[in-house]
This record gives sequence, C-alpha cells and structure tokens, in this order.
Amino acid sequence: MTFPVIDGGRLLARLDAFAAIGGTPAGGVNRPALSVEDRAARALLAGLGAARGFSVFQDAAANLFLRRAGADNDRPPFLIGSHLDSQPTGGRFDGALGTLAALEVLETLEDNGIVTAGPIELVAWTNEEGSRFSPGAFGSQVHATGAFPSGWQDTLDGNGIRLADELAATLAALPEAIERPLGRPVTGYIELHIEQGPLLERQGALIGVVEGIQGTRWLEVTIAGQVAHAGTTPLAARRDAMAVAAAIIARLQATVMPADADARLTVGRLTLAPGAVNVIPGEVTFSIDLRHPNGDQIDRLETEVAALATEIASSGGCRVSIRRSMDVAPARFDDRLIDIVQGAAEKRAFPSRRMFSGAFHDALFMARLGPAAMIFVPCRDGLSHNETEFVEPHQVIAGAQVLCDATLEAMRVFQSR
Ligand SMILES: [Zn+2]
Repeated sequence: MTFPVIDGGRLLARLDAFAAIGGTPAGGVNRPALSVEDRAARALLAGLGAARGFSVFQDAAANLFLRRAGADNDRPPFLIGSHLDSQPTGGRFDGALGTLAALEVLETLEDNGIVTAGPIELVAWTNEEGSRFSPGAFGSQVHATGAFPSGWQDTLDGNGIRLADELAATLAALPEAIERPLGRPVTGYIELHIEQGPLLERQGALIGVVEGIQGTRWLEVTIAGQVAHAGTTPLAARRDAMAVAAAIIARLQATVMPADADARLTVGRLTLAPGAVNVIPGEVTFSIDLRHPNGDQIDRLETEVAALATEIASSGGCRVSIRRSMDVAPARFDDRLIDIVQGAAEKRAFPSRRMFSGAFHDALFMARLGPAAMIFVPCRDGLSHNETEFVEPHQVIAGAQVLCDATLEAMRVFQSR
C-alpha cells in the first residue's frame, strides 16, 4: 500500500482561515460552543467537504460528519477528527488542528484516488471545551452513549441562554447537512491534538503516541471546627478549621506527588466561614482534584487522603467529611491502534514517545465505543487554553502526516476482513 504525502501548505492555510473565525486581537480564538462563530466554522467546514464530494451529516447533538465513501459503504465508518469550539481566550490549534488535519487526510486520499475498504468520516464534536455549557465533551458523550445526559435541557450559559435553544439554532443553521441518528457503530477512532503540556517539547519528540487518558476524581473536603474569638481563645481551646485544612493540604502536597510521578493532586478551591479577620474559622471546605492513569491508584490515593485528613483533623479538634463530586475512570486506548500510530511515526522517522494524556478529550468517550487512539504534537512552552498557544508548522504537518498514515494502516488492519 502507498502512503501519500499530505499537502502541508493547504493545511496551514486552513488553520489560518479557521483561526480568523472568532479570532482575537492577541492572535487567539474566542469560538464558544454553539455560538454564531461556532456555526460559521461548521458552515465553512461543511462547505469545504461538500466541494470535494464528501457527504455532510449532523446528529441531534450537532456533531458534524464529513463522509468519504469507501468500496463497501455498509461497513461502519472509521472516524478521525476533534472539535471546533474554543475556550473564551483559547488558542488556534486546540481542536482545530485535529479537525482540519482530518479534512486534510480526506482530501489527500481524494487527490491520490485512494479507495479504502469502507468509509472514513471526519467528525467535529460539539462542545468539547465545556466553558460555555458544562460539562464538556458533550457531543462525543452523546454519541458514545446514544443518549443526552439527564437534565441537559435546563443547562444555561453565563448569560442565561439555554443549551437546547442554541443547539436547535446551530442545527438549523446547516440545513444542507443530512440528519443522522445518534450513536452509530464505528470501526475505530483516531484524534490528533496538541499535547497541552510540556513533555514532548522538553524531550525533543515530535509525536506523542498516546496510550490513554488519566482518570480524574474530585473530592470535596469539609473541616468542621468551632467559631471563636481570635483574641481571647488560647491555643489549647482552639478548634481552628483553617489551621487543620492548611496542615492537611501541606501534608498532601509533601507526600502524594513526590511519592508517585504519575499522580496529580491539586487543591484549586477553598472557602471558609464565617470569613472574618478576627474570628477563628468554624468551617472550611476545599476541593481536591486527583488524577492518575491507573484507576486502582486513584482509589488508593483517595484512601490516603481520607486517612491523613481524619488524623490531622482529630488532632486539631475538628471533624472531617469527604464527598466525591466527580469521578471519571481512566481510558485505555486500543493496543493495535497505539502500535499503528507508533509505527506510522517511526516510518517517517519522527521522534516519538509514548505517554498518557493529562487532559480530557473526546477520545475518552470514543474509547468506550470502539478501538480509539490519539496522536499528540508539541505546543510551545506546553501552553494551551491561551491565546499565545503555538505549534510550529513542521509539527502541524508531522502530526497530520501521522494521522493520514495511521488512518490508512488502521483501515487495512480493521476493515480488510
Ligand atoms: Zn481540545
């Protein structure tokens, strides 16, 4: 089989064109999910696909599909893509790179007259970021589960606008797209994305061969002490919830990550009551964001947090309660697809390394539906969700080339039977 070379110049020009939709003066992108700008980007993508003869579909979650037919179109499609929505002060590569690289793959196959066994589809998932409407990865979750999350109709953005209304308007804005049912079977899924972290850049690697996405568990820790006068209460009589919380957080930071390089622990939110300068706090609540590639290790970390918090709280005369507020299991990608991605990088002599994703991606949900994998490329200084997010042109082109080669190889392996 021949592996055609993608048109890097065309891909870079497309990235520029899409970056102009919702482009910010600082060079970033503000293209919130289901906004007017998001609809404009979807319309441009649909138009580019239709011009090449690809069929355009959308489902009830406004996931957008461009289908390049294969020899046998009764086979489930192989999906490649990412998302087009952005953070409010987002970068021009997060999501757009994987989506437009997927278009480049379809066009390259078209340019070279390559006939695949079954269809390949580009997908642009709806609302991956979750910054306008929570939660994120909305479209891929709906696709993978075949159903909308409960209560989604009542979801509002920061201005009180309903998700359901914006979804309907976004679907209506693309009348040329053919409606399709939710949750169709797929042969597999590969997503190219920027790393959003510093590992590839630090190690001089061009391609990240992603083995999975680490799991995330959120805990809400509440410390109950006793409100008392700051000046008249001696040390022995103080049940200071803040002093206990500070000790717990300091101990966790000193133990969890130093003991396990794969563990991540972040306390990102803390509230205390009553919150007066001269009053000993009676209650402190703080969040813990725990992440690890291994689900058993997340359980172990939670046990460790609970034991340590209980011990420190009781020595400080306080009570502690811990509640899970979110739990997303790690995703493990398909070994065959991981090897295919690595092989594609090696054949082009692109330095690569295997890694886990620290961030959520739509591939997390797609891994529940079928074989999935991801390709990462470096981003400058590991920066993302930032208007200065930058990927070197040769890194963009390398990532898209690996996506193209890996997709063709996956078609051979998964669809030749
Ligand atoms: Zn993204």
